[in-house]
Amino acid sequence: RHYNFCAGPAALPTKVLERAREEMLDYHGRGLSVMEMSHRSPEYTAIAEQAERDLRELLAVPDNYRVLFLQGGASLQFAMLPYNLLGAGGTPNFLYTGIWSKKAVAESRHLFGAHIAASSEANGLTEAPRQEEIQLSSDAAYLHYTANETIGGLEFDYIPEAAVPVTCDMSSSILSGPLDVSRFGVIYAGAQKNIGPAGLVLVIVRDDLLDQARPDIPTMFNYKLMAEQGSMVNTPATYSWYLAGLVFDWLKNDIGGLEAMRAINERKATKLYAAIDASGLYSNPIAPRNRSRMNVPFVLADERLNQPFLEEADAAGLLNLKGHRSVGGMRASLYNAVPEEGVDALISFMADFEKRRG
Ligand code: PLP
Repeated sequence: RHYNFCAGPAALPTKVLERAREEMLDYHGRGLSVMEMSHRSPEYTAIAEQAERDLRELLAVPDNYRVLFLQGGASLQFAMLPYNLLGAGGTPNFLYTGIWSKKAVAESRHLFGAHIAASSEANGLTEAPRQEEIQLSSDAAYLHYTANETIGGLEFDYIPEAAVPVTCDMSSSILSGPLDVSRFGVIYAGAQKNIGPAGLVLVIVRDDLLDQARPDIPTMFNYKLMAEQGSMVNTPATYSWYLAGLVFDWLKNDIGGLEAMRAINERKATKLYAAIDASGLYSNPIAPRNRSRMNVPFVLADERLNQPFLEEADAAGLLNLKGHRSVGGMRASLYNAVPEEGVDALISFMADFEKRRG
């Protein structure tokens, strides 16, 4: 297998895919695939419950939080979240730091309004607002931010505090290291980076917020109903949930938990940024305190080298390094499943390319 630096859907651990292959046709002697199981069967219920238990253990999720395995990706949360939290009125407040937080703002504004409590616009989306810059509106219902801007490569270096519930899009950084879940009202994360297949979205919600929904909330949006019915108000994304469970198991038993994962991720990101900073060809614009450990965008000093860079990287087995279409340049996503050897191979390739073409 080649090294896959895709921002999402992203690399999955080879071991997880091997296990899925082994279990594909005949799950534990049951003579059928997980994909073919009733979501209400005892076999599937055991899979779903084990996945939740493992996730709770990994993130040390407190007992007063519910874990939901929903569908519609992270983008549907841009609408579900306000429907679930605006029962008493008020305005959602946002930290604007890049393209994903902007999309969350746009959906909220379209539905029920939005207030920007702090913004990175003035610094060109290169540095996150500091705690003291956050100014909530007087009618703030909750604060929303994007822990890691996948496209810009900007990651918060702290968890913002507010007098209202803090909600967070953690799609591209969840499970990259330990997390203090108790600081949040709601956390959500699309699965296709550090969790599993696209389409699945994980929601972790504090249980006192389950009574805050608007009365006109669509049934399938309703966190409370989902929590009461084990995320099975309708047929859940059963196979994706199972695969997420295999990833949680890998994190626990192969990696050794999120502290170990964090150490690996720090090493990977630190060495790639060091290589970029030491070079005359590559550069990254993000303020050092906000450089993302998961998504490392960089540009080449000479744009004409972009295409050769991508072609040669691809031929060397370093896949999907093209930056997002809205910003251009390159982006190396270093999610959990990208092994350290992959980052070493990328760094060697970049140095060699610079020597030959830079
Ligand atoms: N939020 C962030 C931070 C993302 O990186 C992405 C996607 O890639 C999304 C939201 C949207 O996720 P989805 O495509 O699952 O709706």
